[in-house]
Amino acid sequence: MALIRTQSTRFERFLDALYIPALLRGFRVTTSHLFRRRFTQDYPEEKRTLPVGYRGKHKLNLDAHEHVKCVACYLCGTACPADAILIESAPCPPGWEGRDRYPSKFEIDTMKCIYCGFCEEACPVDAIVLTDAVPDVLEKRGQFVRDREDLVRQPPASWKR
Ligand code: SF4
Ligand code: SF4
Repeated sequence: MALIRTQSTRFERFLDALYIPALLRGFRVTTSHLFRRRFTQDYPEEKRTLPVGYRGKHKLNLDAHEHVKCVACYLCGTACPADAILIESAPCPPGWEGRDRYPSKFEIDTMKCIYCGFCEEACPVDAIVLTDAVPDVLEKRGQFVRDREDLVRQPPASWKR
């Protein structure tokens, strides 16, 4: 039966104690990156080209009468794997012809959201969509909860849909 030598020599242990093999391995990795293509971009001067199908900020669409299109059916909230959607349903205000219920409260906690797009797929009336707008960089926890007014606000011109 062949014996496998697992113990290092005294010289190897001496080099290990001085971190020389680890340093050489580190230098090799660093040097190999010097000749690779650069991935960093000078954002925001240099805009990143987002991939097709990128899922960014949510938007609630309006119907032909400029009322929120959502019928408060809870399907998006049920489909959401991150439990990020909070909806409160109420009877539509007078004058909303052909409509029964609307969301008196509609919030998305974008800190919980994983931008999977399940809410968009679940919606039977195309009320909620994920646009190609990059989510905002914010500082406080509460700022990440987007309410109905924020979600229906017309998107800036850079938004493609
Ligand atoms: S994108 Fe996914 S995680 Fe975010 S709110 Fe919609 S269903 Fe929930
Ligand atoms: S956004 Fe769509 S799926 Fe969600 S509650 Fe409104 S109508 Fe239902």
